[in-house]
Amino acid sequence: MSEQGTLLSGVGVGRGAVFGPVAQVRPAPAVPDDEQPADDPVAAKAEVEKAFEEVASGLREQASRASGTVAEVLGATAQMAEDKALRKQVAGRIDRGEPPMHALVAVVENFAKMFTAAGGYLAERVTDINSVRDRVIAKLLGVMPPGVPALTVPSVVVAEDLAPADTAALDLDLTLAIVTELGGPTSHTAIIAGQFGIPCIVRVGGALGLEDGDEVAVDAVAGTIFVGPDDALKDSFAKRAAALAALAEDTAPGATADGAAIQLLANIGTKDDAVRASATPAEGVGLFRTEVLFLERTTAPTQHEQATVYSAVLKAMEGRKVVVRTIDAGADKPLAFVTQPDEENPALGVRAYRLVRTNPELLETQLAALAETQEATGIKPWVMAPMISTPAEARDFASEARRHGIATVGVMVEVPSAALRAHEILAEVDFVSIGTNDLAQYTMATDRLRGELADLLDPFQPAVMDLVAATARAGKALGKPVGVCGESAGDPVMAVVLTGLGITSLSMSTGSLAAARFAIRQHTLAQCEAIAEAALAAKSAPEARAAAVALMAQSAREALGL
Ligand code: PEP
Ligand code: MG
Repeated sequence: MSEQGTLLSGVGVGRGAVFGPVAQVRPAPAVPDDEQPADDPVAAKAEVEKAFEEVASGLREQASRASGTVAEVLGATAQMAEDKALRKQVAGRIDRGEPPMHALVAVVENFAKMFTAAGGYLAERVTDINSVRDRVIAKLLGVMPPGVPALTVPSVVVAEDLAPADTAALDLDLTLAIVTELGGPTSHTAIIAGQFGIPCIVRVGGALGLEDGDEVAVDAVAGTIFVGPDDALKDSFAKRAAALAALAEDTAPGATADGAAIQLLANIGTKDDAVRASATPAEGVGLFRTEVLFLERTTAPTQHEQATVYSAVLKAMEGRKVVVRTIDAGADKPLAFVTQPDEENPALGVRAYRLVRTNPELLETQLAALAETQEATGIKPWVMAPMISTPAEARDFASEARRHGIATVGVMVEVPSAALRAHEILAEVDFVSIGTNDLAQYTMATDRLRGELADLLDPFQPAVMDLVAATARAGKALGKPVGVCGESAGDPVMAVVLTGLGITSLSMSTGSLAAARFAIRQHTLAQCEAIAEAALAAKSAPEARAAAVALMAQSAREALGL
């Protein structure tokens, strides 16, 4: 049990405040380098066999308590632990004098290689067999099993960091909040948590010291975790949840107090996200991150597989606008089938749209899949490419997309070169969408995954805001839409500033929509413009935010006659 009253802090993402018991995600145990061959191979084999049995029955038991995909994943992993060939090979190596855990590691490595080479379904099982290996090793070492816990009660999930695939394995219905020691506010864990409206705090020093079952209160706005909250704190959290729920009752389209429209859209990554978004007042999808569909795949998805998912997403959105982003792989979003093996600086390397240079078939197949989707559904999505750096890239992408029958083609503005040349880029396409997560990363030369540099990644950084403003001006000049789909769009203060800058749509985690809608509604367009101007005039990120907040409070006071 951690000491009651302990306060930990980090960088909060989202608006929620929740309390519940901790469920730790444990790292894989390390096999001791000096492990020796067994003195008694018969006993060692029996011990390994027992560990396999216990792992299999434990997984079966967890599967019986879980449901849906989580139950399926656990069942498939249990099956792997029951595999006779696997156990026999480990026993054979122990007989030949290999230290037991090293024998297991070697056998699993061979199986994993075989699976990967076989491709398809078997390749997808590599994660399961690795998970069996780690669990058996944990048993042999007498430590807690590694990995994402199978939750049985609503819990606060605590981890060192979560790979995108780990996040996918979480039962999000039972995940009250996510707390990580590493990661950054725009890393994928935070983004996925946001999509589900799950409060998340990253960069929490000491998070791994929390123990399973510790009751904690997680406040994503303040970025704090309090161990052993008292009733007063729990009450204040409940009141906040009620206030947010009241805001969510307002389902009108996004607009300023004097009726200037600003579309409020959802960021999604899967068909289930689309189904959830369609149940919210989101006016559509402003960013469909298609790479999320393929994070766990080891082989490239076929045209038809893609078309099936895209059709399901478009149908789920029932005719509302959907902006599909072509695969954004590389750097923080590794995909097994496109990762460049020898890059020293993947964020600056062959990633996102640049993959047309090395893997042109990826874009070709995806655009063909989108064409097939249009044909099958009669619905025409907007389509944009990530990480465009030059007007020539925008032109090439637009001509490829149009060749496939895409009617509304855009690109993302995520690197300073694109923002500086926004006018020329917009001349090539129908719209742009600003990815402030990457725009901040590249403008400030700060890895978006390095949470300890979060102050530099602040979208209120004057240099980042200047680039956003320049892009918005280019859009106004050409009469073309300029959206923002980075996490900053969901910050109610930034949402008002962006409206004032002339941004035409804001796309965000659905959990952020209500507060952004409310904030924008409190001000006329002229007031939003004045707020944006004050933020732009500031000399630092905190001053910019403070200037915006001060003016927002002033217009609220004026509206109330105070
Ligand atoms: C961004 O960079 O702001 C963005 C929306 O794209 P992603 O977070 O997927 O890189
Ligand atoms: Mg990006």
